[in-house]
Amino acid sequence: MKKYVDLILNWYLENKRDLPWRKDIDPYHVWISEIMLQQTRIEAVIDYYHRFMKRLPTIQALSEVEEDELLKLWEGLGYYNRARNLKKAAIIIMKEYHGKFPQTYEEILSLPGIGKYTAGAISSICFHLPEVAVDGNVMRVFCRINNKDWDIADSKIQKRIGEELKKNLPQDSGNFNQGIMELGEVICIPGGMPKCDLCPLKYHCMAHLKNRECLIPRRNVKTKVSEEEYTLFLLKCGDKFALHKREVGLLKNMWEFPNEKGFLTYEEVRKRIPHISSIELSITNIHIFTHKKWFMNSYKIEVEKEFGSYQWVNISDIEKNYALPSAFMPFFEEIKKDI
Ligand code: SF4
Repeated sequence: MKKYVDLILNWYLENKRDLPWRKDIDPYHVWISEIMLQQTRIEAVIDYYHRFMKRLPTIQALSEVEEDELLKLWEGLGYYNRARNLKKAAIIIMKEYHGKFPQTYEEILSLPGIGKYTAGAISSICFHLPEVAVDGNVMRVFCRINNKDWDIADSKIQKRIGEELKKNLPQDSGNFNQGIMELGEVICIPGGMPKCDLCPLKYHCMAHLKNRECLIPRRNVKTKVSEEEYTLFLLKCGDKFALHKREVGLLKNMWEFPNEKGFLTYEEVRKRIPHISSIELSITNIHIFTHKKWFMNSYKIEVEKEFGSYQWVNISDIEKNYALPSAFMPFFEEIKKDI
C-alpha cells in the first residue's frame, strides 16, 4: 500500500475540489459538512451548508437553536436524527469542553451521532492525528488497487482495510484520507466503469492491470425492504391545512399530514373525519427509505371547522416554519395548487 500513498496524496493536493468546508480546518465546519455528506451528494450539500453556517455559525448557536428551526434548516437532507444529534453533541461540547471542540479521537467518537468514520475524518483533518476514515469510497479504492475480491459489507473486512490503511498512513493523514475518498468519489467511481485513464494509480493498480476493476468490490448482503401502506388526509379548513407531529417509528417527531395505516375507502374516511364538506381522492406516492417502502395514497378533504389536536396552518407558514420530510413533499406540492 505504501507505494500508492504518495501518488494519492500528490494527486489530491493538485486536484482537490474547491468546497466551502475546505476553506479552513475548523472542526465545526468539518463536522457539519461530514454529517451532511452522509447519504447526500456533495453538490446537493453545498447550499445547505451555506444556509446552516449563516444561521448557526458557532457551536454555541447550534446548542441553543430550537429543534423546529434546526429541522427546518435540515429539511430535504433527510435522516433527521443526524440534525438532532448535532444539537445534542453541541450541548455536550458547551457543557463538558467549555465550547471548544474535543481534540482526541476517543472524545470525538464519544459525541452523539459521530461514528468511527466521522471521528477519523475530523481528528485527521483538523488535528493531524494518525487516524483513518474508512467509508464505501475508500474501501472500493483499496480493494481495486490491491485486486481484492472482498465483500465490503462484511464488518471483518472493513476492520481489516482500516488496519491496513492505518499501518501505511503518511504524516499528512488528513489530506491522505480526503485524497483517497475524493479519488473514490470522482475517479474510481462505483457502478459502471471507473475513470482509470484519469487515475494517478493507473500504472500500479492491480485490478486495472488485470482488467478486473468492474468486478471489484463484491457485495453479498442484500438489504431487506419491508412495505407499508398509508392513507393521508389532506385536511383543509379555509386557507389552513392540518399538520400533525408523528409520534412513533420512522420520522418520529417530524411534521406530517394526518394519516392512517392501510388504504382506506371513502366510507372508512368519512367515519373517521368529522365536519366534511367535500372529499376527493388525490395523488399517490411511493417513498423508499433504506429499509422501508411506503405506498401512500391521499384524500383532499375540506372541513367546515378545525378539529382535533392538529396544527392548522396556512401554506406560507408551512413553508417558513415546518419541516416536512420528503415523503410528504409531493402532497404538499399538490395542496399548493388549490390555493
Ligand atoms: S486505476 Fe482505475 S480501478 Fe484502479 S484505482 Fe484508479 S480508477 Fe480505480
